[in-house]
Amino acid sequence: MNLKQFYKKDYSTRLSLLSTQLNLTSDELTLIANQRSQQGDAIIENYLMDYSVPEGIAVNFLINGQEKIMPMVTEEPSVIAAASNGAKMMHMGKGILVQTTPRLMMGQVLLANVSNSSKLSAQLTQNEAQILRVANEAHPSIVKRGGGAKKIRVRQLDNQFVSLDVYIDTKEAMGANMINTMLEAVANYLHIELGQSSLMAILSNLADECVATATCRIPFERLTSRTLDGKQVAQQIVLASQAAQVDPYRAATHNKGIMNGVDAVVLASGNDWRSIESAAHAYAVKDGQYRGLSQWKIQENDLVGSLTLPLPVGFVGGSIKINSQAQLNHKLLQVGSAAQLEEAIVSVGLAQNLAALKALVTEGIQRGHMHLQAKSLLLGVGATQAELESAQKELEMAPQMDEQTAIRILKRIRT
Ligand code: NDP
Repeated sequence: MNLKQFYKKDYSTRLSLLSTQLNLTSDELTLIANQRSQQGDAIIENYLMDYSVPEGIAVNFLINGQEKIMPMVTEEPSVIAAASNGAKMMHMGKGILVQTTPRLMMGQVLLANVSNSSKLSAQLTQNEAQILRVANEAHPSIVKRGGGAKKIRVRQLDNQFVSLDVYIDTKEAMGANMINTMLEAVANYLHIELGQSSLMAILSNLADECVATATCRIPFERLTSRTLDGKQVAQQIVLASQAAQVDPYRAATHNKGIMNGVDAVVLASGNDWRSIESAAHAYAVKDGQYRGLSQWKIQENDLVGSLTLPLPVGFVGGSIKINSQAQLNHKLLQVGSAAQLEEAIVSVGLAQNLAALKALVTEGIQRGHMHLQAKSLLLGVGATQAELESAQKELEMAPQMDEQTAIRILKRIRT
């Protein structure tokens, strides 16, 4: 394939290059044309088309006394229903209570091939005021907003690495770009003043000084299932939570369930979900073993849950300014700051986790999943909305739920 200097070509040249070399059909070209947006070209390089993922609304959230809905962007069928279901169970009483810490992001200047790390560490600590001044002078506008570099920490990683960690209040932004600018200025300063060259200067996604904690308290009677009473369900959920504390294999799936909700709201809000994913999983292993991010216990006649997540999200910055859907979603979320966005996101994570654990320890996860899976299978083989209702019921009852069965059922309905 010859795509030389592809990034320098304009949109139509890039498209015709792809079209000729990959023999794109007229239907495929129409699909691309229909999915082309103005903003895509402004956000990424080598833009081709928008790739759409459905957005839906989860309901029933009561967060710090305020009724909320959650716009969620996800391709996984059961996520929104589960979030609404979890939120409904938590709605009683005070609903979800959330606390956030002051938002301090961290960036590191990583110093390598250090000959005397104790000596260098002492020098860095002595130079804290100058380091903070250099960082702040590199991005004065954040200082004017009341933010900026606030403190440093020095870590001797092993014999050859020292990390200079700079903590920065990025106000309403996630701050990756401003942090990186500030750190590069600091790296340059260290080179000139201390003769110490650095390996790299970049933010850390492990934002453990920008965390949000959601808690909830659910009376047993809200948890009753078809086969178990509420207390038994609560006890099973506590066991499931403990299993995720001791087994990384279970914890990975436990946390994936939490991130089903978290990512969907992060994406809807116009934020970088990879940054939140990496922060969450790094936080999950903070004491050396990978563990479940949430914990459930019993207090009196209630099931009490809590989830703490690092949430370095932005209310401004990145592509949010030019993404009108992200701005609309901020309105749907009723948030006016990054901290309020954190509150919404951590709440969805806890609701998602509760719904998943309850399903797992009672009827199993597949029952709810299969309903939506049947719908996806039927739509995938061409079922119309009119055919869907009866075909879906039949497919759910079938001994095997697969594409061939879906085709067979449709054929039968149509004859
Ligand atoms: P921007 O570079 O867009 O910076 C945000 C800007 O918003 C600030 O520089 C500031 O400019 C302006 N601003 C306006 N109002 C406020 C306010 N109230 N508080 C704070 N800033 C305000 O975005 P970020 O620096 O937040 O970086 C986010 C992007 O970086 C994301 O797209 C992410 O994907 C990407 N990224 C992520 C990395 C990672 O996670 N490892 C690495 C590199 C990039 P001013 O003060 O001058 O007006």
